[in-house]
Amino acid sequence: MNEELELLLRDIIHPETGSNIVDSGFVDRADMGDDGAIAITLRFQKARDPFAQKIKHQVEALMSERFPQSQTMVIIREAAPKPRRKENITTTTDICRVVAIASGKGGVGKSTVTANLAVALRQRGYNVGILDADIYGPSQTKMFGVEGYIPEAERDEEGNDFIIPAQALGIKIMSIGFFIRPTDALMWRGGMAVNALHQLTHQTRWGKLDYLLVDLPPGTGDIHLSIINELKISGAVIVSTPQQVAVADVVRGVEMFRHEAVNIPVLGVVENMAWFTPEELPNNRYYLFGKGGAKQYAEEAGIELLGQVPIIQSIMEGSDTGRPAGGFDPRVVEYYADIAEKVVDKLPAEC
Ligand code: ADP
Repeated sequence: MNEELELLLRDIIHPETGSNIVDSGFVDRADMGDDGAIAITLRFQKARDPFAQKIKHQVEALMSERFPQSQTMVIIREAAPKPRRKENITTTTDICRVVAIASGKGGVGKSTVTANLAVALRQRGYNVGILDADIYGPSQTKMFGVEGYIPEAERDEEGNDFIIPAQALGIKIMSIGFFIRPTDALMWRGGMAVNALHQLTHQTRWGKLDYLLVDLPPGTGDIHLSIINELKISGAVIVSTPQQVAVADVVRGVEMFRHEAVNIPVLGVVENMAWFTPEELPNNRYYLFGKGGAKQYAEEAGIELLGQVPIIQSIMEGSDTGRPAGGFDPRVVEYYADIAEKVVDKLPAEC
């Protein structure tokens, strides 16, 4: 891109992004030939978008004002804008350890484990944050009762924008759920989600954190790798129910983290919904989803079993009412204190 033209084009602001059209990614090409002819290509999702037409006219007017002798041709290419990333700016520099929480499939309690583990770490006096990166079903906002929170943006003197996270029980929470309606989640194209998560990761004002827990989408795939690559992940915790099918998915999860290109230590497995004990029969355990599948797998794969958490009503109610049970039900507090202790022990003591 011709530098002089780029500088000029930075004066044009896209009304929707509030940022100049170069950084917002609407300029594909801006060249000046030896004969002074100017060729500019703009990229817009739809050429007939009223903003596209307006900006095209602005560009034409600007060029004919600055270069009255030149011939200018401005064309619109129908393509998604490619915002420029400010790679060197990140708010993650004061985060000491990042723990990814993953699961082979949805519904096994990955988000519940993330929320309660965060509470347990906070109870031990650590500064904790959660990045809810589960684009398919962000639920940390509900788990902590902050669904209505509207993240505010702040701009520093250099013009960098920051996003202020929600806070609940002393935990900083940033979720993709603040920005999308649940019904929209499935319509997100991979690239869109990855761009949004990039922004959330590096623009959230995390401050100093001992632990950032990242609630990943269930499963394994390209999108997971993109998210994992955004941050230096210290270790991964895998959540599974004892069912054989769920355990089969754990294997894939473990392989993803252990892949040489990824190379993230797997801290261990949490077997969730391991059994059910009715209140009136406190000594009975009913293994509704089979017995110890994840436990057995962990042993075979040489991975630590970080804990087994039974089905407990307060856990479910806590998720629904925005108060994780790890914050008030003594049984749950104990289960998660053990898990938190193991996680802490497995990660470096110093940053
Ligand atoms: P995932 O994140 O894996 O999709 P969630 O954490 O959203 O799963 O959990 C799915 C449902 O199961 C939620 O309603 C949650 O409250 C409930 N749940 C999870 N773990 C337990 C548990 N140990 N006891 C009771 N209910 C649980």
